[in-house]
Amino acid sequence: MDARTPSHRPERTCVGCREVAARDQLVRLVREPAPGGASPRVRVDPSGSAPGRGAWLHPDAACLDLALRRGGLARSYRGAVDTGLLARDLESFDPTRTWNR
Ligand SMILES: [Zn+2]
Repeated sequence: MDARTPSHRPERTCVGCREVAARDQLVRLVREPAPGGASPRVRVDPSGSAPGRGAWLHPDAACLDLALRRGGLARSYRGAVDTGLLARDLESFDPTRTWNR
């Protein structure tokens, strides 16, 4: 066994709790333009590779809550974003959890 930590393991910061985690433990969020000059919408990117500025979130309702309340998403995307669809997206991504409180 090689006891060293793999140095090329990609890591990302969760926009909710701000902790660094391996990429495969986080869900990628992507900003999608909204029609009519409305704020861009944040959606779940299940493929993890959609074009556009991404943000990363633990698949955890507590982290979602933090990201929304602390404005982590707006900061990550450098501007106002519409997160109205996010809880629903996360619900279809992981239906075993309760995302909306
Ligand atoms: Zn988190």
